[in-house]
Order: sequence, then C-alpha cells, then structure tokens
Amino acid sequence: MTGIIMPREHAQTMSNIAQYANQYVLELVAYQPGKPIEETARELGMDPVDIVKLASNENSLGPSPKAVEAMVKTAAGVHIYPDGASFNLRSKIAARFGVEFNQTVVGSGSSELIELLCHACLHEGIELIAAKHSFSMYPIMCKLFGAKYVEAPIKPDFSSDLQAILAAITPQTRLVFITNPANPLGTVVTQAEMDSFMEQVPEHVIVAFDEAYIDFADDKPDTLKYVKQGRNVILLRTFSKAYGLAGLRAGYGVTIPEIADLLNKARTPFNMNLMSQAAAAAALDDEEHLAKSVDMVNRGKEQYYSAFKSWGIEYVPSQANFILVKTGQGRKVFNDALAKGVILRHMDGYGLPEYVRITVGTERENARCLEVLAELLGK
Ligand SMILES: *Cc1c(COP(=O)(O)O)cnc(C)c1O
Repeated sequence: MTGIIMPREHAQTMSNIAQYANQYVLELVAYQPGKPIEETARELGMDPVDIVKLASNENSLGPSPKAVEAMVKTAAGVHIYPDGASFNLRSKIAARFGVEFNQTVVGSGSSELIELLCHACLHEGIELIAAKHSFSMYPIMCKLFGAKYVEAPIKPDFSSDLQAILAAITPQTRLVFITNPANPLGTVVTQAEMDSFMEQVPEHVIVAFDEAYIDFADDKPDTLKYVKQGRNVILLRTFSKAYGLAGLRAGYGVTIPEIADLLNKARTPFNMNLMSQAAAAAALDDEEHLAKSVDMVNRGKEQYYSAFKSWGIEYVPSQANFILVKTGQGRKVFNDALAKGVILRHMDGYGLPEYVRITVGTERENARCLEVLAELLGK
C-alpha cells in the first residue's frame, strides 16, 4: 500500500450545492453563443479554414489593421495593470460624441454594460421592458437580478412598437431596452417614433438605446440629443460588430454623468483590459476600415436579397449586418448547413422557429452560404 489518500469518487458524491444557490440563477438558461469554428471543425473532421461562420454578426474583413498594430505595441506591457479609468479611450469617445469625460463608460463588450445597468437598477419586484424577439442577453441579465422581464409586442413588419413599450411601463419599470437596429430582426425605429416616445417616457425609467449595429443603418436616429438634454438615457455601442473586435471584448456607453457614475460603481476595477483599451482607441480612428466593412455588408445584403427574391422566400430587409430569413424548420436548416461547414444561427431561442439568421460576410462566404441553402431548400 502506498499510503496515498485518494480523493473520493466524484460520481458517488454528486455535490448538492446547487440547492443553496440563488434561485434566480438556478432558473436561468445560459446564453447560447454562435457555434465556434474550431468546435465545428473538430466535430466534422474539417480544416477550420474551410468552415464559414455566419452565426455571430462578426466582421468578416477582420479587425482594423490599426487596432492590431496598437495591440502588438501594447503586448509587451501587459504585466502592468491597465488604467482602471480607461482615460485614453474614454477621452476619445467623449471627443467623438461632444460630451464630457464623465459621461462615458467602457466595458468588456457592451454585454457587460447591459449587465451593469441591470446591476444598478434591478431587483425583485422591478421590471425591465424590451420588444418581443429581443437580444437574449436582456432576459438573461434581467432574471439574474430577480427582476421581471416584460416583452412588448412588435409591429407586423417586425419593427419595435415604442407605443406598446410605453403602454407596458408601470411604476415598477426601471429599465427599457430599445435595440436599434434590432437583433435578430434587423429593423429600425424612426426619429419621429423615438421623439414621441421620449416625450412620454416617465422620469423613473432609464432608456438604453442598444446601438450595436448602428454603423450599418441607413438612417441613424439622433439619440445623443437626449443625452445632451440630460434625459435618463444611455447609448450602448460595441467594437464587436462593425469594428471587427468581437474576440477582444470592448464596448462603451454615452450617457448622463449620474448614470455613468452608477455603472462605474458597479463594475470591477479593471473591467477593460490593456489590449482592449489600446485596440478600441485605435479602431475608433480607423474610419477607412469602418467604411470598407459597411460597404462589404451593403453589397453582401444585395447578394442575399436577389437570391431570396428569385427563390421566392421571405426575409426581413435588414439595417444591420445580418438577415433574418424564413427558410422553414430553422433548426433543421441550421443543422444541415452545419454538416456542410456553414455555421448559421437558428432562432428557436428567439421564438422564431421558421427562421435562420445569417451574418453577411465576404462575397465568397455569402456565395458559399447561398450555394448550401440552395441545395438544402431545393432551389
Ligand atoms: C452583439 C450585440 C451586443 C454586444 O455584444 P458585445 O460583444 O458584448 O459588445 C449588444 N447588443 C446587441 C443587440 C448585440 O447583438
């Protein structure tokens, strides 16, 4: 005998710690991200370079070369903590939007800012409102804080109905998300609708304009003016989509100082890492890369639309870098396309089982996706 004490068999002593966990957490269904390229390649025995991922609204052109250059320069210094105040990046954002430094917040993706807003405002007995079929992070974060998630109906053309959101506001409502353009729908709300909404929304509600895809929109309603009027609003932006930095995790908010202050209190001290701060600041200046990316998406959308029209299948005209298309049996189409190395997103979790969402990629990626869809749909 060796005298070594062996750990007890895990199988025999399944921990029952979950029963002591927060009830809200037990009831949560974790966020389902797009299927990763490496995982798909492993499962299919394919080379990762042959996989086409059009599942997470990433930028197929890649990151801004200026951002990459900034990261390379920064890499040798990562043994030092980042600036917890993200001075450089936030100064740039403040200048860009014509607001004060203390009106800006940054985070590890705008997902973190969504979480911080919920942290700051939500608890049991409190309500958050968003349009039906909204980004699934909202209900997850809302429920994480024990608050009630309220879905407002949308219009028949799949655009948000701000009057329906107004009608759903109660004294318990603290937070409203208006996603513009909406994900996964791709629709937008107009300036007139926004203005009318903002005239009527009560004081006790924070309105978060989630503008993750605003760079792709033809019409960009001015939401910054509500910040400048001192209203209880926050604009949420991300570097993950048009700026091509999804893997880094970088997002920001522009708001009134009082809301920025709440979020800054709720965050961890170094929520924006050194590389992210450097890359995001450089990306913000790279207007050329942004313009190229938007142009690629606009051309790609036409590529998809003309195919869908000729096949006679329905899609929602998109103001973002993805298209919601009615293929029927979304999960089956997702699985069948996956088997051919094309990763799409089925919409089961969004209550849209007849649809898939396709990110608009490079011309080659779009062509491959259309080739696979034509095969699957018998077109
Ligand atoms: C992608 C996305 C975000 C932000 O994602 P991050 O990568 O966390 O910045 C926020 N809102 C919506 C609606 C999105 O689709």
